[in-house]
Amino acid sequence: DGEKPWLKSWPEMLTRELVYPEVPLFEFLETSARRYPDKDAIIFYGKRISYSELWDAVERFSTHLASKGIQKGDRVAVYMQNSPHYVIAYFGILRGNAAVVPVNPMLVERELEYILSDSGCKMVATTSELYQRIAPIAEKLGIDVICGHHSDYLPDEPELPVPEFARTEFDTGSATEWNEALKERNPPEVEVGGDDLALIPYTAGTTGMPKGCMHTHSTAIANTLSSVHWWNMTPASISLATLPYFHVTGMIHSMLAPIYAGATIVLLSRWDRNTAIQAIEKYRCTHWMNITTMVVDLLSDPDISKRDLSSLLAVGGGGAPMPEAVAEKLLQLTGLKYVEGYGLTETISQTHMNPPGNPKLQCLGIPDFGVDALIIDAETGEVLPPKEVGELVIRGPEVFKGYWNKPEETEKAFIEIGGKKYFRTGDIAYMDEDGYFFIVDRIKRMINRAGFKVWPAEVESVMYRHPAIKEVCVIGVPDSRVVEEVKAFVVLKPEYEGRVSEQEIIKWAKEQMAAYKYPRIVEFVKELPKSGAGKILWRVLQEREKQKGE
Ligand code: AMP
Repeated sequence: DGEKPWLKSWPEMLTRELVYPEVPLFEFLETSARRYPDKDAIIFYGKRISYSELWDAVERFSTHLASKGIQKGDRVAVYMQNSPHYVIAYFGILRGNAAVVPVNPMLVERELEYILSDSGCKMVATTSELYQRIAPIAEKLGIDVICGHHSDYLPDEPELPVPEFARTEFDTGSATEWNEALKERNPPEVEVGGDDLALIPYTAGTTGMPKGCMHTHSTAIANTLSSVHWWNMTPASISLATLPYFHVTGMIHSMLAPIYAGATIVLLSRWDRNTAIQAIEKYRCTHWMNITTMVVDLLSDPDISKRDLSSLLAVGGGGAPMPEAVAEKLLQLTGLKYVEGYGLTETISQTHMNPPGNPKLQCLGIPDFGVDALIIDAETGEVLPPKEVGELVIRGPEVFKGYWNKPEETEKAFIEIGGKKYFRTGDIAYMDEDGYFFIVDRIKRMINRAGFKVWPAEVESVMYRHPAIKEVCVIGVPDSRVVEEVKAFVVLKPEYEGRVSEQEIIKWAKEQMAAYKYPRIVEFVKELPKSGAGKILWRVLQEREKQKGE
């Protein structure tokens, strides 16, 4: 029938079981510190931190936690921009036998309070520019705050432009000072192993409330090892870290993988095109994992063709599709094909990656090591053959253990097929004749704004607090710059008609939620499309907007 014979046996074809070391995550850093004690683990605007210095600080951090009574089973939040503090706190918490709750520094108070109290964190590690935001919440919840200053790790003479916030000294009130906390070194006994809870990254959800994804040391190790393999990371690699570490993609590809490999991380606290270009040139960076918008921004530098990007060996990322024109420009300039991957917070980053030598564009790639990926009929659960479109479901060593304290949501997230448990991604995809997967739509109501995920239910629940809003429906609309922009259709209460403008609603919304979430487009409408049962038909609005865009 013209079909390639091996396709008949998919997905077995793509199921490769690997054996991963059953150790706690921090052993990677300990090992790299033993192998390469004097090698630069991190270069932060010119400040060099060797592997042995990094491990020493991690042990000191864990000593402080133990002195505060933090032990196995406890959770500690890391609420920071990228900085050496982040890496030290992250590994220090794990070495202290506790679990890390990475928190997005862009969140506003209400969002922060929810995550800190939902996860039951006993302590939060932060840096000074964020202290004023977290302090009242920590006090209310009775949580200790340990706070660093960027000056702790900035060199006297920076080699790259340092962002304004990192050059500023902020008041840190009654928080425990970082340097004070790291004075002693007497780390506790190791009491955790591969199967213990290590990380609870949060992802938003259909109900409007963020959900914590429970990951063990082992789930993170699975993806770290695979990242090292896909990117061919070695001790000679220099990884430019521009992705935020609170998100799983940055955590795995720009922090854990280079540390496992004994590579050097060139760490930037915030994305800035000029700084990134200078960093690539100065430190001869070999690896750069990113989100699409960063590549677009970097390549739109008017002098980019005169800059030296020749050290780069691997450029790629995930979380959002890469526009074809941008990938072509990258290829022209660097000779490198953009390597896209796919994954979710629930899978602690990638479940699919493009083979770097043979990537396809706007493609999720092929299943990662040990990943069994199926396309099923979302209604019946029937497994579909190649080329047919259905829900992507996944089984593999990186799949999370469930949502923190949410057994019902956890139950709904999995489906049993052939006696095996698969995670339902909520993404609609298909597999082509070469075994590469492509995403075509979503079942879940999520907006992908340049890789930042916005959940309409959460935005709507905030919008309903505005006194003029009677009804609201939030959708994603096509946008050439950020892929999908957040748009709200608003029905005003009659008494407010003509008394409030779209711009006023946008301005108000901007203050209520993290900057990537608020609707930048608001349209007033007389009514919203509804089903017979009165349910708002968001898909109707979304389809209408999509057609307008075409
Ligand atoms: P998050 O949990 O924030 O990492 O978001 C996961 C979601 O991002 C997935 O369910 C997809 O909808 C989307 N996503 C991830 N990678 C890609 C990709 N390469 N192309 C398109 N969408 C993606």
